[in-house]
Amino acid sequence: MTIDSKFYTTTVHGGTEPEPRTGAIMTPIFQTSTFVQSAPGEHKGFDYSRADNPTRTALEVALAKIEKADYGLAFSSGLAAEQAIIQILEPGCRVLVCDDVYGGTGRLFRKLFAKYGIDFQFVDMTKPEEIKAQLSDNTSMLWVETPTNPTLKIIDIEKMAEAARSVGALLVVDNTFPSPAFQSPLDLAADIVVHSTTKYIGGHSDLIGGAVMTRSKELFEQVKFIQFAAGAVPSPFESFLLHRSIKTLAVRMQQHERNAFAVAEFLSSHPKVERVFYPGLESHPDHHVAKKQMRGFSGMVSFNLKGSYDEVVKFTQSLKVFSLAESLGGVESLINHPERMTHASVPEALRKKLGIGYNLLRLSVGVESSDDLIADLTEAFGA
Ligand SMILES: *Cc1c(COP(=O)(O)O)cnc(C)c1O
Repeated sequence: MTIDSKFYTTTVHGGTEPEPRTGAIMTPIFQTSTFVQSAPGEHKGFDYSRADNPTRTALEVALAKIEKADYGLAFSSGLAAEQAIIQILEPGCRVLVCDDVYGGTGRLFRKLFAKYGIDFQFVDMTKPEEIKAQLSDNTSMLWVETPTNPTLKIIDIEKMAEAARSVGALLVVDNTFPSPAFQSPLDLAADIVVHSTTKYIGGHSDLIGGAVMTRSKELFEQVKFIQFAAGAVPSPFESFLLHRSIKTLAVRMQQHERNAFAVAEFLSSHPKVERVFYPGLESHPDHHVAKKQMRGFSGMVSFNLKGSYDEVVKFTQSLKVFSLAESLGGVESLINHPERMTHASVPEALRKKLGIGYNLLRLSVGVESSDDLIADLTEAFGA
């Protein structure tokens, strides 16, 4: 499976116009809070950087283009982007959320927004009967993340769009894991796409950011108002960094996927591995859904290691190319222990249900040589 060839051009050129005064090919970092006006209320489209900043505007155009959206909005983090989406809702409404949503998303919904009278129901969205049971007239939104984290389940986006439409609800898809290179939820009838741009779109583990993309003018205006009114915007410098990162998104994703495939196949045949989770493998239970809605399977691979907790720890410490750290999507390979690290805040009963146990490890496969990555894993298995 391959990335659209047009995507390579979009990532390089989207949102980038030579700067008119000097011809600078990159949009400069407009490190300014305010803009001089020629008469009260008369300006060149920018009056205050919380509202709009030229460096951020260039980024937002690029974000819209790579997600095949008409509008893009940049935020100071993925969770700030999610917060702005939830804030378009009214108290009393219901939101159905996939049960193995990103841990911080679950925390935002359960611990913060539930107290404002929004009823969040966490359901297994791979099971249509669970959704049907929870859909109601006051359901305003379905919140999908696919592939899920860390067990890489696949949720059928078109089916979720149908379910949302049946009650007049919006469909939001968190597209962080596949990145716009491999999945286009707006083409599959989603209303809003959200990203933690900290991950693949940023790609270098050097910034925190979020994005919202949509084709609906009305939804754009609602979320834009919240961005302006609440102010969770990225700085001009971070906007510049992220825009710069987008230019290599296609080539990075191609290498991430190639390496992830090689690592997943290697792990599948290793005697010390109990089970591998990678949607690209034919053995993955939702492989057919993944093939239908994705152009590639991205760079995340999870697996169960055979052995005790101490052996699992030893394995993570023996790796030299993979670093033990949270987060994902950077050029460097990372290993994460979800139970003790990224998913420690998930209620224990839910962790059990989702299969997040002591021997589950999650890899963010980077863009190094796959031979070196496999050699590193081989050596750590030996230890
Ligand atoms: C990291 C992540 C988030 C949260 O984004 P931040 O940039 O850390 O605020 C949301 N969704 C997914 C899938 C993530 O991986």
